[in-house]
Amino acid sequence: MEDKEFSKCPACGAESPYFQMIAEELKEAGRVPDGWNFYLDKKQGIVFPPDRLAVLPIGAEVPGFQFMTDICSECGCIYCVKLVSTVAKKSIQPVQVVPPNRAERRRIERECYTPPNFGNIGEN
Ligand SMILES: [Zn+2]
Repeated sequence: MEDKEFSKCPACGAESPYFQMIAEELKEAGRVPDGWNFYLDKKQGIVFPPDRLAVLPIGAEVPGFQFMTDICSECGCIYCVKLVSTVAKKSIQPVQVVPPNRAERRRIERECYTPPNFGNIGEN
């Protein structure tokens, strides 16, 4: 599916997403690299039934997605600014030999969220 970008707020029609405007100012000032962007939120996942996924071989590819949101600086509406189609490959979860302690579990929960049994979300 084709990737989409939405520049206009769906509520008021303004083209002033808050974080993208700040990112542009930082780029113009040369404080961040040209390709850098900031979003309110960025989520990714797969579009596939979990029971079918369970029987697929390691390395099998299924459709995935990413979407990014921003806040309209005119009316405060939170909306999707970018929708990206991806391909996810089924991979093996690393085997946990020793149960993590509480601090380690918190670090893993904070830093390492990926959909179950999936890593390597491919960039298109
Ligand atoms: Zn708006």
